[in-house]
Amino acid sequence: MATVAGDGTPRIRIIDTMLTKNEKLYFLTARGKDFYQELMRTGQVAVTGLNERWETVRLQGRVRNIGHECLDEIFEKNPSMNSVYPGDSREILEVFCLYEGQGEYFCLAGHPIVRKTFCFGNVLQQQKGYRIGPDCIGCGTCVSVCPQGAVEEGTPFRILQENCLHCGRCFENCPVQAIIPADGGYGDSEET
Ligand code: SF4
Ligand code: SF4
Repeated sequence: MATVAGDGTPRIRIIDTMLTKNEKLYFLTARGKDFYQELMRTGQVAVTGLNERWETVRLQGRVRNIGHECLDEIFEKNPSMNSVYPGDSREILEVFCLYEGQGEYFCLAGHPIVRKTFCFGNVLQQQKGYRIGPDCIGCGTCVSVCPQGAVEEGTPFRILQENCLHCGRCFENCPVQAIIPADGGYGDSEET
């Protein structure tokens, strides 16, 4: 999980997701840790994970501190926590709920690559990557330069978003600047 420190520089830690329910993620940390202070100050976190099949999930969103709510349930479902914080020492821990955000599934194992975006909570999906606009003259350059075969012929040509690397090669090579970068980032865009 990644946060931003008070001086604006990035921080990252290995943090277990202790619970998932009702499309929310729950994790905890101790009040004395910098991680705790950063979560409290920004109310945001970014998360990524990778499995042995080269499938990744990443998401970013908003968190709220829910104190000791769910703490006993977390210890029941994650019994190894009892050796890290035995007895009453769990009192120093506080639970955070990641309640809204957006993310992406990304798989590099095959050709073409596969990406799927998702959002949860009160967040609208924001378009990322590139799209082809009406100025396209159908020259086919983007098809020939794309490393993933992610451009489909048509009027105009179309980028297959689920197979696109977001590498920008088509954007750099289009002779008429018909390829438009999306805004990117995380926010409250109207774009779906
Ligand atoms: S390179 Fe540009 S003009 Fe040519 S087909 Fe692709 S989007 Fe259209
Ligand atoms: S951004 Fe890269 S992967 Fe996506 S369509 Fe353009 S050239 Fe292909």
